[in-house]
Amino acid sequence: MGKRTLTRADLDALPNYVPGRSVPGAIKLASNEVPYGPLPGVVEAVAEAAANVHRYPDMGVAQLRDRLADRLGVPAERVVTGCGSVALAEHLVRATCVPGDELLYSWRSFEAYPIIAHTTGATSVRVPNTAEHGHDLHAMAAAVTDRTRMILVCNPNNPTGSSVRKAELDEFLAAVPEDVLVVLDEAYLEFVTDPGVPNGVEVYGDRPNVAVLRTLSKAWGLAGLRVGYLVAHPEVAGAVRKVVTPFSTSLPAQAAALAALDAEAEMRRRCDLVIAERDRVQIALAKVLPGVPASQANFVWLPLGERAVPFAQHCEAEGVIVRPFAGEGVRVTIGTADENDAFLHAADKFLG
Ligand code: PMP
Repeated sequence: MGKRTLTRADLDALPNYVPGRSVPGAIKLASNEVPYGPLPGVVEAVAEAAANVHRYPDMGVAQLRDRLADRLGVPAERVVTGCGSVALAEHLVRATCVPGDELLYSWRSFEAYPIIAHTTGATSVRVPNTAEHGHDLHAMAAAVTDRTRMILVCNPNNPTGSSVRKAELDEFLAAVPEDVLVVLDEAYLEFVTDPGVPNGVEVYGDRPNVAVLRTLSKAWGLAGLRVGYLVAHPEVAGAVRKVVTPFSTSLPAQAAALAALDAEAEMRRRCDLVIAERDRVQIALAKVLPGVPASQANFVWLPLGERAVPFAQHCEAEGVIVRPFAGEGVRVTIGTADENDAFLHAADKFLG
């Protein structure tokens, strides 16, 4: 008999999740963070919560759930919080798929999806993006089989910034069987300006087989504290509550989230700055690179193919860290105006 390894041998073939690199002194445009620091009141709330960190947090996350539910206009039983929306995505797969069941998603999309599928025993079914780097919802609907249990629709899509609109989604949802859970991953919803792109909670909240993932990591500036939330039918939310890691929304995270939600007007103001910069960066990029898809998120996608890694290396030498996807393209987060200028200057030198 062959020698067994201590850990699962199949993990060798699985790529690691690659976080955006941080290099001291360099401008980091690699992790889709908002560049303005924590929202007002957040640092104080975390400091206050620190006095009680010898105690477990409220496992039911009652105050924050009530607050989110209020904001969203849904009953609190439909809301589940977790250690970032990436953890909730994993919980959803654990709550829907047994080994061999199929998890369907567009590709390229968020790199955590295949990792989650593999480690939960679900089978990944990837449908290639369209030539315009967006979801091909027709092909996705056609790829549904008897084994499909969950479909991830990343809207807007990470890393390409593309989005699907309500009319396409309506048609897609009508084609998907009612016993397949469609998860709308709306991590970047706050940056959407196209009125045709639906707010999943508002538009599809009544459909039992639609669940929406959101995060406080991006627009709300809490990436370091790890707070995401799920809005789903009570049956789905209840199942996720069963598989959630106990106490995974920490005490400082709960306090910070409440403080951040109090600063919604400032969040909106900051998002508007990012959106204005996104539009400026896209216009500048279009002059040196064809085929940059219109972004509805806080990043842009440069379809550079084999030039992706050399481009990222060049940017790093110029003091700007971007996120390459080898052989495919480069994702660049929108930063402050100065940071974006530094990036555009570096991009111009390489592409111009
Ligand atoms: N979904 C998408 C599409 C993302 O891009 C990310 C973060 N990169 C997440 C979910 C996870 O965010 P978090 O776990 O920080 O909430």
